[in-house]
Amino acid sequence: MNGYFDCNATTPMFPEVGKHFAEKAATTWHNPSSLYPAAALAKRELEECREWLADFLDLEEPSRIVFTSGATESNNIVFRSLPAQAKNRVLVSAIEHPSVMEPAKRHGPGFSEIPVDGNGRIDLAALQTFLESENVSLVSIMAANNETGVTQPWEEISALCHQYGVPLHSDATQWFGKLPVGNLGSIDWLTGSAHKFGGPKGVGFLVIPVGCEMLGGAQAGGPQEQRLRGGTENVPAISAMIWALKYLEPRIPACETKARDRDEFETRLAGMLPEVRFIGQGVPRLWNTSMLVVPRHNNLKWLTRLADLGFQVSTGSACSSGRGNPSHVMEAMGLDFTEMGRVLRISGGWDTSADDWNALTAALAKTWKDLDSSGAPTRKKITL
Ligand code: PMP
Repeated sequence: MNGYFDCNATTPMFPEVGKHFAEKAATTWHNPSSLYPAAALAKRELEECREWLADFLDLEEPSRIVFTSGATESNNIVFRSLPAQAKNRVLVSAIEHPSVMEPAKRHGPGFSEIPVDGNGRIDLAALQTFLESENVSLVSIMAANNETGVTQPWEEISALCHQYGVPLHSDATQWFGKLPVGNLGSIDWLTGSAHKFGGPKGVGFLVIPVGCEMLGGAQAGGPQEQRLRGGTENVPAISAMIWALKYLEPRIPACETKARDRDEFETRLAGMLPEVRFIGQGVPRLWNTSMLVVPRHNNLKWLTRLADLGFQVSTGSACSSGRGNPSHVMEAMGLDFTEMGRVLRISGGWDTSADDWNALTAALAKTWKDLDSSGAPTRKKITL
């Protein structure tokens, strides 16, 4: 049984990718900027990876790809590259990951949030009003949300931004490897991270706009990555990231049918726990994610008991869970404080089977019964 249901936090490396990573670590470990033939091998591997990714995303210029240490760095670079002029507005959706939200807020009074509905879908009319009335220098809207799995109509959003001549950034960290890449490469700035799709941790990429001139470079240092990001490139990890994308690409259509397993899980669970509420049901979502609000008992109690039964789930974004703060994503979707304390995020993976989902349903039903019979106090309603 595979009890790992926290793939939106991170994924294990696919064994095939791990093998490829080890091989490349043995053969392409030289510094790709060194000048002897052995280093040229590493340099060639690096540039072949860039070319493959450019092809995959349908980019004419491979130089638009900057390899980074992951999505957090990529998202930070986007905002660091903007001129700090308060009169230029930066619009970000209210449900962005903190690695977008926090650097965007540093833009000062020029920062605005685009509201979402109760399912976490962008309010397109509000976006259009902003675009019409403000001097906007950048819009940032994620492709798929890490907590709910809800996806955004990014083709429509991209067309709208371009109609007003405003560049769009999309954090597509949760999209890559789960859904077809389609036309994502048409977005001006695009973020990806290998450990969310079976690649190694600590490596990702950022697509930058054509002709983008970073102010002073994204990371000052050596002349690597077209002088935009100093630091020796991690060629074996970059190569393994590309390998993971190549490995998943033909498997994605079959994975999309896995939404049925997740949907059946939700139906069965609702039959057992009638008061349970699912977020994002009925709107486009990633096939692997179910975000639910349990009617009783704090989510940490659920999480601990489920872990004892061999199931790993999350109470929300792993990146926020250490902070003890209410999730801004749930707040933006209108959940109250009591509900936030009862949210479970369940995110399966490419190898999660229908039997695994069934086993999780049984574990949730047992946990529910145990918590009810233990007389565990439910969380008191706190009014903020
Ligand atoms: N953006 C999104 C949507 C994410 O889910 C995450 C990881 N939780 C990140 C950014 C940060 O990714 P990384 O760990 O690669 O920095």
